[in-house]
Amino acid sequence: MASKIRKGDNVQVRRGRDRGKQGRVQRVIGPTKMVVEGINMVSRHVKDNPGVRQAGIIQMESPINSASLALVCPQCDTPAKVGFQILDDGTKVRFCKNCKETIG
Ligand SMILES: [Zn+2]
Repeated sequence: MASKIRKGDNVQVRRGRDRGKQGRVQRVIGPTKMVVEGINMVSRHVKDNPGVRQAGIIQMESPINSASLALVCPQCDTPAKVGFQILDDGTKVRFCKNCKETIG
């Protein structure tokens, strides 16, 4: 099952606290969860661990459900509906339903 959103894609949040924000997918965790740069930030309390890091509160990304994300088309620069196309050689590629361009 090909995924509509992949690591390295630029995405926009469609719902929730970060609605409207954009970021790059840093990590894909299973079929529905992904970590997006600057999105769904949570505070973590970090204990003092000498030589590794300072104690305190750090901000880090928490995984977000891919259903809340829309791929931002690199061609037309809008949150796109993604479709799939099968090329003549059998390769499955994504395309943007707005501008009909294929997305690498
Ligand atoms: Zn497009």
